[in-house]
Amino acid sequence: MNVRGKLDISKIEKRAYICGEYVWAESGKVIEKSSSIDGSDLSGIAACDEIDVEKAVRAANEAFECGIWTGRTLEERKAVLLKLADLMERDREELALLDTYETGRCFKNYYNDSIPKAIECIRYFSECADKCYDTAIPSRGTEFGVIVRKPLGVVGLITPWNDPMVVDAWKFAPALLMGNSVVIKPAEQSSLSLIYVAKLTKEAGIPNGVFNVVPGYGEVAGKALALSNDVRCISFTGSSEVGKLMLTYAGQSNMKRVYLECGGKGPYIVSDKCSRISEAANVLAANMFYNEGQICSAPSRVIINKKVMDEFVNCLKKETEKFVPGNPFESENEVGCVVSRSQFDKVNGYIKWARDNGYEVFQPYLEKDNYEGACAIKPTIIMNVRNNDKIAQEEIFGPVVCIIPVDSSEEALKLANDTRYGLAGALWTDDLNEAKYLAENIETGLVHINSYGNDDNSAPFGGIKESGIGKDKSIFAFDEYSYLKTIWMHFK
Ligand code: NAD
Repeated sequence: MNVRGKLDISKIEKRAYICGEYVWAESGKVIEKSSSIDGSDLSGIAACDEIDVEKAVRAANEAFECGIWTGRTLEERKAVLLKLADLMERDREELALLDTYETGRCFKNYYNDSIPKAIECIRYFSECADKCYDTAIPSRGTEFGVIVRKPLGVVGLITPWNDPMVVDAWKFAPALLMGNSVVIKPAEQSSLSLIYVAKLTKEAGIPNGVFNVVPGYGEVAGKALALSNDVRCISFTGSSEVGKLMLTYAGQSNMKRVYLECGGKGPYIVSDKCSRISEAANVLAANMFYNEGQICSAPSRVIINKKVMDEFVNCLKKETEKFVPGNPFESENEVGCVVSRSQFDKVNGYIKWARDNGYEVFQPYLEKDNYEGACAIKPTIIMNVRNNDKIAQEEIFGPVVCIIPVDSSEEALKLANDTRYGLAGALWTDDLNEAKYLAENIETGLVHINSYGNDDNSAPFGGIKESGIGKDKSIFAFDEYSYLKTIWMHFK
């Protein structure tokens, strides 16, 4: 069934949300862009600049200072956030339609996976915020000390387009529960669902000024937010290149806290001691080609023992047929378009580079090719890749997997770690000793043994090296949006 008709374009809200009101950018400027599904014009979302960001930060600061939100009890904030989750559930179809419309990813994925995950994330943080205890320092005679958790003030959140609602929820839910005010700069490619959520925050009872959305271009609105002296923390998800800029902006302004969730080039080690080769191939395909490969933690480097490579690749080639792109609004399709024409060109540029440099490139045969005008890319396997080539080192962020043959698990580990990234990885083996050795030594924030993509709100998510600093999800996320204050008391 095609669900495109359910989206009423005339009713889409495209304005920024500042101090509880929808407003256009003061300059009147809008973001200009076109659809990756059919090339149609998607321009018109407010393009905020320094003036609008300053307004939003001021509103957030005033709301924080007057205590309208931070002065409420955790139980009260929790009730409001739980109401927000319920409202998002009520409007789940609308949110999924908006994200599909803007990003070209399949409605089915948004409706069944991403939007429910965002809702569950808000519920998770709401339920565990009041279970984080303050701590007493060991008693020392007449001295008594406690460590309490305090909100930071205004928190700036800068998010990407590849899973908009989920990443937004990972950040705004713990930040709000800790009592902060937030100003969120969504990606220019995917702002509509967050703009929609803004009105739900009002309906849920979040006071004016506590939740603000400033859509706009990264180098204008994002930069202004990250440079603001009144913002105490920036939590960013996006590319490592822009992540590094965040650290610079913090240094150029008020030394604000910076947390970064950046890119990845996930190693997926398959040992000759693995007996579940077809399962390893199927799990790889499901995690690599889902969301058109636009996943930071995608297992895009298969580092495989030569003895099992042919069997693995044959299974993987067959599996690619399940991930042939189709119209994202057809509710049965699994795979749609990449986010934009420029992303389409970038990914195809890497595939062309591989062909031009003599690599064998496999894509499944299609009886009917991709529908006309769409930025859709077939799942792609590049064979016998050298780990130091750019296709193995750079984040392609599309449905492209490199197969890297090795002779031993020592060599596999060396290549797995020979990357600037360190987000997620996996290893497949029946040998427990080998599993322990590899899992302990792979340099990633997350590692799977004989699986991939396991997910739970209680598990911290985030990388090391140039994949980032800090963690989203889990109770550890509260640490990013609060500071610890030690209070000493003296008794006579
Ligand atoms: P991006 O770095 O281009 O943009 C991310 C955000 O930063 C956007 O909101 C953008 O407008 C803003 N931005 C861009 N330039 C800026 C600047 N100069 N100053 C301030 N803000 C600026 O990334 P993207 O293309 O939107 O997203 C894809 C990237 O995100 C990939 O590298 C992917 O791996 C990464 N990602 C990481 C995670 C994770 O949890 N580790 C999750 C999702 C995506």
